[in-house]
Amino acid sequence: MTNCPNCLNQFSGNYCNNCGQKKIVGRLTTKIVFTDFVEAVFLFDFKLFKTILDLIVKPAKLVKSYLNGKHKSYFPPFKLFLFSLTAYLIIFHFFGDDMLKYRSDLFDDGNEAFDEELQLTALMKKNLNIYFFLLIPILSFFISKFYRNLNYNYAEILIFTLYIIGISLLLSSLFITLGQITPIFFIIQTVIQLCYLVYAISRFTNSKSLLSIIKTLIVIILSYSTLAIIIATSVVTYFVYLIDS
Ligand SMILES: [Zn+2]
Repeated sequence: MTNCPNCLNQFSGNYCNNCGQKKIVGRLTTKIVFTDFVEAVFLFDFKLFKTILDLIVKPAKLVKSYLNGKHKSYFPPFKLFLFSLTAYLIIFHFFGDDMLKYRSDLFDDGNEAFDEELQLTALMKKNLNIYFFLLIPILSFFISKFYRNLNYNYAEILIFTLYIIGISLLLSSLFITLGQITPIFFIIQTVIQLCYLVYAISRFTNSKSLLSIIKTLIVIILSYSTLAIIIATSVVTYFVYLIDS
């Protein structure tokens, strides 16, 4: 038996059964510090890399095994979402304007942009992270309502949504960066994202027929429309408040 120096619990084996701290033998050595460092860096990277790859190739399988209790092998859902969101915001900070400009040029009506339009874009860019946070519960809500015979509760669907929105943000970051080579990637980005979401949700909900794929598309469109309505309402409220004060 060993006394855990962290929580004072008595345990046998290599890890404390109460707090999980690793058993410490003797004093710290350079070798232990170095091994810890290598493990922390590479185990983290390997887990993250494997989770991302599995989520792209077989999203439903990974999430189902995670929901069945296999946690240690995968990078946790909320952390993956935060990691992806951070990556996306950094990429967007550098290349987002190029994409927005390319898109607005595509639908250009020949008129100069209004001052309000520029203000609006700036405001929306500032709140980009909030929008992605909102998308998680909204998309989960529509999945839970549209697939009533799904064996997962709302909390479990949230885990799935965190994972797939995380991946869709990473795919998006990749293609926005590729857009620096040729702007066609800005368009491909949207298509890839949509295809991935349809693929992941169809797999997760065991939908195989064409009709159920259309249903998946409706779920995605409804989620994004709801988000758009929330954004529009908050922006209008903001501007009304701004004019009033
Ligand atoms: Zn302990």
